[in-house]
Amino acid sequence: MPYYPDGSPYVYDDLWPELVNVGWLDDSHPYRRGDVPVELVDGLLRLAADPVNVTRGVHTCPFCGGSYLTVENPHAASGSTLLGSAEIHVRGAGGGGFAAPTLMIHYVLDHGYAPPPPFQRAVLRGSGRGGGAPPGRR
Ligand SMILES: [Zn+2]
Repeated sequence: MPYYPDGSPYVYDDLWPELVNVGWLDDSHPYRRGDVPVELVDGLLRLAADPVNVTRGVHTCPFCGGSYLTVENPHAASGSTLLGSAEIHVRGAGGGGFAAPTLMIHYVLDHGYAPPPPFQRAVLRGSGRGGGAPPGRR
């Protein structure tokens, strides 16, 4: 999976151009660590149950080598979500938004990743693409 610094511009969505990257980690760049509220994980799972940009391949975790990682997800119809094959997009406070790989949930749960506070607030506010999508797109 490509590495993008947290907060760098996300360039793959010209319909929602003000997205910034969060959670595109790799094992050669340090990342922000810390505890996160359980509500953040729940919010991420809710967003991951309705992902965007689903790909055919599955990305491998750069830290533990895990692939085809799944996580129990009460928000998903199947009860679990495969990580590493899609993105979650969530609106920020100022009209922009954030684009993160679903594998980020694994980074948070198993590798101590603490996403940037503006992203955490956006997830907790809970306006993902499913609920707050720009006109004509979800
Ligand atoms: Zn891992």
